[in-house]
Amino acid sequence: MTHAPLPRYEVLALRFGTQAGRSARENFLFADDPCATDSVAPFDFYTWVIRDEERVIAVDTGFAADTAARRGRTQLHHPVRALADLAISPEQVSDLVVTHMHWDHTGFLDAYPTARVHLQQAEMEFCTGGAMRHAAPRRPFEADDVNTAVRLLFAERLRLHRGPVRIAPGVEAHPAPGHTPGLQVVRVHTERGWLVLASDSSHLWANIRRRAPFPILDHLASMVDSYEVVEALADGPDHVIPGHDPQVATRFPALEHSARWTRLHRPPLTAYREPGTDGAEAAR
Ligand SMILES: [Zn+2]
Repeated sequence: MTHAPLPRYEVLALRFGTQAGRSARENFLFADDPCATDSVAPFDFYTWVIRDEERVIAVDTGFAADTAARRGRTQLHHPVRALADLAISPEQVSDLVVTHMHWDHTGFLDAYPTARVHLQQAEMEFCTGGAMRHAAPRRPFEADDVNTAVRLLFAERLRLHRGPVRIAPGVEAHPAPGHTPGLQVVRVHTERGWLVLASDSSHLWANIRRRAPFPILDHLASMVDSYEVVEALADGPDHVIPGHDPQVATRFPALEHSARWTRLHRPPLTAYREPGTDGAEAAR
């Protein structure tokens, strides 16, 4: 039996938002981690687009400007309207993969009128379950966005998965829980190999490379297990794309005609710099 060669997708990141004045300490669970300093650490927000000649797949939908203002973040670009830069209309998006239901990833879940929407069942159960009566686990969720997911479910547009799933040839979603119970990452075949959009399984490269967990979490051991899952799915450390690292937008080349989009399918232009260091590549 012969197999058709896998498509090689373009993978584009949009840095659509940012947070000013955040301290590095807020990004690490353990206060004695050398990266957990009091220095100001930029923290950015991304959405992603996967495309080839045949299809367009969106990953996460970012946040609305008013929600961001209420939560002390800034929307730099409208995450859906920015698709116009790529000559993509919302109708062309065949699939939307939602990595998890936190507010900064779910602002426009109904923006793609014909897309299949992919979420892990465990995530849906969590954000509609009893844990939401507690302020702390509820804090990163927006009830309106959860309601949108429920409406998509009732409209038979939401696909709830229990484990890994192939979205298209060369595009897979894999559970990587810990930050939330149903977080999934997206593995994509590209010209430089298998890339993993790790989303918030690892907010920053420092979290996964140093095994230094992010403090907002559902299950600590699962989060660290997921670092191993993500690394096993990716063809190398620079094939792991974290969810919020400012270096994502600076290390990879921008799209020629629209610099706000970063081309992740191309090799990085610069080496990874560990925060708080003079730039030496981390040991792992
Ligand atoms: Zn996030």
